[in-house]
Amino acid sequence: MEKRLSGQKALVTGANSGIGAAVAQRLAAEGADVVINWLFNEDATREVAEKINKAGGGKAIGIKADVSNEEQVDAMFKQMFKEFGTIDILVNNAGIEIHNLLENMSKAEWDKVIGVNLTGNFLCSRAAVRQFLKNENRPHSRSRGKIVNISSVHQVIMWAGFSSYCATKAGINLFAQSVAQEYAEKKIRINSVAPGAIKTPINQNVWSDPKGMADLMTKMPYGRMGEVEDVAAAVAFLSSDEADYITGTTLYVDGGMCLYPEFRFGG
Ligand code: NAD
Repeated sequence: MEKRLSGQKALVTGANSGIGAAVAQRLAAEGADVVINWLFNEDATREVAEKINKAGGGKAIGIKADVSNEEQVDAMFKQMFKEFGTIDILVNNAGIEIHNLLENMSKAEWDKVIGVNLTGNFLCSRAAVRQFLKNENRPHSRSRGKIVNISSVHQVIMWAGFSSYCATKAGINLFAQSVAQEYAEKKIRINSVAPGAIKTPINQNVWSDPKGMADLMTKMPYGRMGEVEDVAAAVAFLSSDEADYITGTTLYVDGGMCLYPEFRFGG
């Protein structure tokens, strides 16, 4: 595999499962040293780190932190800088969804989703940008630092029962674009990848149920669920110098989910 990220240091949040694990492996395969942030399941973290370290690309270490907790996030970055010296690439991937209709949604449920998906993005982005601004003479990249957010098609597609999730993903979009505007002149790039339906633990209830899959396929022009590698490839591209002129945008990796598939047979 082409080593577009050799010598760079990356941190991927929520990286011991699903999309995050695939992103960590892809960035390492392209040469980056990677922090696997995790909160639950130390064994899974060890497995992902071992896979990466055996593969012979960049190396991996796990660091535990709840991304919604300011002290833990700051401590995680401090540990990363001690181990790796700096950060070049942050991938804000950690995310959760809690199903509920508005009338039944507790404040605790709302706070939880906002805390992980949106406040977590803010805390990690702030810590990364503070360090990017100190990055001088990074010979491996034309940019001083890159952030890639794992957003969702639900930053634009409304989703009944998941209004808190949609609020966070839409929020990430304009937060990221505003921050991209703030730091473009400093050569810091901030973009998002918006996956459609990717086969991971977060949506196991859908892909493990034939009826759920049949329904999903009606929303999926490309005729298949996405794989984690589809998302990882997009993240690696946006992290690399090939995307050096791209900032403040969203790359949809959704098999056409945003194409209003219901309109295919007439309006
Ligand atoms: P996943 O459940 O496998 O991954 C989520 C990860 O976030 C897990 O590793 C989890 O432990 C971690 N996490 C949760 N709370 C955390 C916290 N407070 N601190 C640190 N880590 C925490 O599911 P996934 O599908 O791989 O989801 C990854 C991202 O992709 C999420 O942001 C999700 O919204 C987004 N996404 C997924 C899909 C999809 O179809 N799978 C579609 C669109 C967007």
